[in-house]
Amino acid sequence: MRPLVDTHCHVDLYPDPGAVIEAVERARTYVLAVTTTPSVFPAMVSLVGESKYVRPALGLHPELVAERWRELPLWVRLLPETRYIGEVGLDYSVGDRIAHARQRHVLSEILTRCNEVGNKILTVHSRRAEDDVIAAVGTGFCGKVILHWFSGTGRALERAIANGCYISVNPAMVQSRKFLDLLPRVPRERILLETDGPFVTAKTKIPVLPTELGGVVRALATTWDISEDEARAKTFQNFAVCLQEDDSDG
Ligand code: MN
Repeated sequence: MRPLVDTHCHVDLYPDPGAVIEAVERARTYVLAVTTTPSVFPAMVSLVGESKYVRPALGLHPELVAERWRELPLWVRLLPETRYIGEVGLDYSVGDRIAHARQRHVLSEILTRCNEVGNKILTVHSRRAEDDVIAAVGTGFCGKVILHWFSGTGRALERAIANGCYISVNPAMVQSRKFLDLLPRVPRERILLETDGPFVTAKTKIPVLPTELGGVVRALATTWDISEDEARAKTFQNFAVCLQEDDSDG
């Protein structure tokens, strides 16, 4: 069976991050370990250590931009150290207009830098700001943008797809009727998996582990009318395509 790939997990925010890393190594599940500020990135790098499966991502979370925007130069300095970027994005459910403008400034700088270097893989937050995130990415972005926990409209989704974005699906999203109605409109080639752990919890209120993506795979298999093994293989293949370097001059 193909490995699972959790493209958005806050490994460092679990009560026992070491145990999470051991579990994903045992299960051979790949994990993009997002960070919320660049100042914690070095700690994430040491936490990940020699893990083959866990990859540290460099982030500056929109909900933290109001207090942490001064870390943007540090984010820029650390950019050469990883191919994986996140969590970054916009969140208009928090803060006022000034805070939103600051979030847009930070995201624009992040996208510009990533676009210059090329071939970065970004996991991007867009709550109540889907249109602005998708417009900021634009049509010729050199790299891969994964919209994490997409909760926008069908029209925003279409624009995201047209701009080349991927959609990562988590266990909470497949419980949402609204998202399940949109899911068939996403080309299969653009679907990836995520947990957003430890913020997504199972029915037991225990944080979902990156190894627990079976429910998402099942929902995809049902939507696509294929076997769970095939659905799982498809998500792995999609991530493999994400990893391919684009040589064309962007
Ligand atoms: Mn997250």
